[in-house]
Amino acid sequence: MLKGKIAVVTGGSRGIGGAIAKKLAEQGADVAIIYHGGAEKAEAVRSEITAAYGVTCRTYSCDVADGAACKATADAILSDFGGVDILVNNAGITRDGLLVTMEDADFDAVVDTNLGGAFHMTRAFGRNFIRRKSGKIINIASVSGTEGIAGQANYAAAKAGVIALTKVTAREFAGKNVCCNAIAPGFIRTDMTKEMEEDPRIATIPLKRMGEAEEVAELAAFLASPAADYITGEVIKIDGGLTM
Ligand code: NDP
Repeated sequence: MLKGKIAVVTGGSRGIGGAIAKKLAEQGADVAIIYHGGAEKAEAVRSEITAAYGVTCRTYSCDVADGAACKATADAILSDFGGVDILVNNAGITRDGLLVTMEDADFDAVVDTNLGGAFHMTRAFGRNFIRRKSGKIINIASVSGTEGIAGQANYAAAKAGVIALTKVTAREFAGKNVCCNAIAPGFIRTDMTKEMEEDPRIATIPLKRMGEAEEVAELAAFLASPAADYITGEVIKIDGGLTM
């Protein structure tokens, strides 16, 4: 379904991003994986993708919180692949804590990575999408950004910002046939949530379990596909019914 398409996945070295990179490759897309510090994990995903699906896959180290680094990385990807059809802004971090004791550094790092990263990458690839007059941008938000989860002032604010950025991007790029949507996951089993297995909030999820990264990847692949050509500016939750 995505044969001949070129996809960029930030934070594609593990977790939800890793699952998305593999799913897009399974559907035929060539993939550029952006990671920050974990070169070994990025390389493991790259070799798994090339062996399993025979598509081109390259890895790029970049701190998405750094606008200049994002521009340089986007330029390298455009030069290596010749263009980009799908951008998945997935890279993210948490530094949870109560609002009254939250350090500036923890607020800034979370906002700069989760929201700044999506902004920097969308800007860096923006002209590419405008020139191609088609494309899909998918931003990974969170139900924290729609509901406001206690202990996540930084993360919830960043993810709410990602949702607003999604709508602005959808409006600004719609005239160029570029769609932009957000996915808002609930609790998904990854490194980010490895301490949550015993969390009492899991029992409050109507489907009574955490989600899997592969389930989020299915939704991302749908939004990246021609089947979603008339969907833009949407925020789609995938949370087992947690916030309905
Ligand atoms: P993980 O912690 O498992 O993976 C995070 C990924 O982001 C890694 O590939 C990491 O690369 C990359 N990354 C982190 N910081 C940077 C940075 N500054 N620059 C570039 N890449 C970076 O997270 P998840 O897979 O759980 O989360 C993925 C996305 O989904 C995030 O945006 C998260 O907020 C969101 N989300 C997750 C939920 C969950 O329950 N897991 C729920 C809702 C939303 P490296 O290892 O090289 O640093």
